[in-house]
Amino acid sequence: MSRALIIVDVQNDFCEGGSLAVSGGAATAEAISELLAETDFDAVATTRDWHIDPGNHFAAEGAEPDYVKTWPAHCVARTPGAELHENLETEDIDAEFLKGMYTDGYSGFEGRLGSPDAVPSGKRENMGADDGSAAIAENAPDLDEWLRAEGIDELYVAGIATDHCVRATVLDGLEAGYEVTVLTDLIAGVDETASAEALDEMADAGAQLMDSQDL
Ligand SMILES: [Zn+2]
Repeated sequence: MSRALIIVDVQNDFCEGGSLAVSGGAATAEAISELLAETDFDAVATTRDWHIDPGNHFAAEGAEPDYVKTWPAHCVARTPGAELHENLETEDIDAEFLKGMYTDGYSGFEGRLGSPDAVPSGKRENMGADDGSAAIAENAPDLDEWLRAEGIDELYVAGIATDHCVRATVLDGLEAGYEVTVLTDLIAGVDETASAEALDEMADAGAQLMDSQDL
């Protein structure tokens, strides 16, 4: 078996101080870095929300987000909010997958290989013609294609948020035929009840739930 660690959306906007802060996000980033220092994976990939115009995923101007289907603007491509959190050690990360340019993009399996750090972050109005779409090359592989090329059959999933992008990524990973383990001490959720339900749903679909200490 060859195993990959998939780090879901450990981005500034999903951590304390961000526009869609998830409680425990910064600590999750730090704990994932400790795991990376102690444990060898055959491949390590991150996903990032990389929104350009995701339609009604962002609540309309002046409307209250419902925090279920509509959200405050977050992780806009080429802004500091879309960058990985500074507590996440990036040395061992092999590839980044960007998702949600024009959709809600909950699942990492919607992501395509990209180079988000090739373009500087700043204020959206100063970005000129490059809205962030150039971070993904024309023929870039999606996450599934990349994992198969790496010979990966086993996924360990950590990150944010348990009840949304972690959930969607895990369910799609199972659907695609991978063995999937959720590292339950390395995830953070938006809503406590929804996160507990999401863990049940992932387990029912065939995911293993494991503490990273037991790896
Ligand atoms: Zn989003």
